[in-house]
Amino acid sequence: MVSALQIVAVPAFADNYIWLVHDADSGETAVVDPGDAAPALAEAERRGWAIGQVWNTHWHPDHTGGNLAVKDATGARISGPDGPRIPARDVTLAEGDEVRLGRHVGRVIAVPGHTLDHIALLFDEDRVAFVGDTLFAMGCGRLFEGTAEQMHRSLQRLASLPADTRLYPAHEYTLGNARFSVEAEPGNDDIAERLAKVSRLLDAGEITLPTTVAEELATNPFVRAPDADKFAQLRNAKDMFRS
Ligand SMILES: [Zn+2]
Repeated sequence: MVSALQIVAVPAFADNYIWLVHDADSGETAVVDPGDAAPALAEAERRGWAIGQVWNTHWHPDHTGGNLAVKDATGARISGPDGPRIPARDVTLAEGDEVRLGRHVGRVIAVPGHTLDHIALLFDEDRVAFVGDTLFAMGCGRLFEGTAEQMHRSLQRLASLPADTRLYPAHEYTLGNARFSVEAEPGNDDIAERLAKVSRLLDAGEITLPTTVAEELATNPFVRAPDADKFAQLRNAKDMFRS
């Protein structure tokens, strides 16, 4: 019997979440995308968790800026995608590779679009995926480096995971995304209901993540886009949208 992973959101900057991941069986802890070391180290210490690994989803500094300080403080091993811009990386991750936390195994898939190096970590048995800035609740990352075709395919790969898979994005963008989604699909009752739910959660001081594959299939216009052309139209419209 393997205990469930414990996953804790650590807010950072204006709207980032750093995810602390703990396996109670082995006592091991990993931190996903520590853009800022201080809040992640503080939360781990408060819980008595010793960070042994850093997992980066892509090179952007709000995901990697704390790598060095976490390593200095804990000796953590840093795993992230290829390329010159992941600070202090020890292990390079690419499609087909694995990360491990105790007996939990995370499969690496390439999800280019937001950046070309972007990866996601899929813990199939746990029904958990860390998706960085590829998929957000009711939204997706901007296309800074990749193409609409790449991002559309990346989102479809995530959307093809089992429906109960919990998805952990790296930003609290849900309210703005929900407002855009209502305009993108005005007849979609699931989207309207989710906008109301998200507003209630935030008003109560709660976070809106994780999300699930099932929720995204029902309410995320970018996931629901039937092809890359429609996806590209939506992405352009969202880039201009002011909620
Ligand atoms: Zn990013």
